[in-house]
Amino acid sequence: MFYDYHTHTSFSDDSDTPMIAMLEGACKKGLTEICITDHYDPGYPDNMYPFDLPFDEYMATLADYQKQFKGRLSIKRGIEIGIQHHQLDKCSAAANSHDYDYIIGSFHCALGEPLYEGHFFDNKTVKESFLDYYRYMYDNLKVYKDYCNLGHMNIVARYSGGSPAFNEYSDYCETILKMIIQDGKGIELNTSSFKYKMETTCPSEDILRLYRSLGGEISSIGSDAHDPDRIADHFDYATEYLKSLGFKYITAFTKKKPEFIKL
Ligand SMILES: [Zn+2]
Ligand SMILES: [Zn+2]
Repeated sequence: MFYDYHTHTSFSDDSDTPMIAMLEGACKKGLTEICITDHYDPGYPDNMYPFDLPFDEYMATLADYQKQFKGRLSIKRGIEIGIQHHQLDKCSAAANSHDYDYIIGSFHCALGEPLYEGHFFDNKTVKESFLDYYRYMYDNLKVYKDYCNLGHMNIVARYSGGSPAFNEYSDYCETILKMIIQDGKGIELNTSSFKYKMETTCPSEDILRLYRSLGGEISSIGSDAHDPDRIADHFDYATEYLKSLGFKYITAFTKKKPEFIKL
């Protein structure tokens, strides 16, 4: 009973996998449901990766496959929107232009710099990087609400080369998580932390525990797979892990409305 709520296809600039290969892969792994969440990241500051999305073609392709796979695999139409403060109008326009089942709001950039490569970490301590990243996230999510779940909340830790103690930045996380809960949004557990050999899960156990203790209920599991091999990667582990942290449900979405599936 697996619901993979974070997957990419060749509609994303960083994947070469045709959508059909991901869907066949999902069937092979016995998935109950897959949500395709290709990238749209307006203003991504690397010309090699514009992360644009041909929305009409993308949605039409998904609709075709929904028909084709009927009875074999439930397919949801999602999108991963990269949020940046100077692009919020474009993010909102994309979020409202089509009838998505699910929208991941992600921060791949902060303060105009890509975390993956670039100058975000220049001349900062690890602690300063974390504080800048979470402050930027808060400043955005305070005004931007066109998403369902926050993607890979602690992605900064994938690139920072270390993490400060949680209490050095937990105030920011708490403020963000309270806002997410109040807004009726959720977070995802992103199992790509295993691929990237991160020191913690994504988000970290500290963040997941804090979210749960604040009453956070909405949580989806996503592999962030860009190829069929990684679909539902570590999902057995992820399911048990969420249970052990007090989560009672994982969340699927239809037309952006959460559906709670008992763990
Ligand atoms: Zn992402
Ligand atoms: Zn992704």
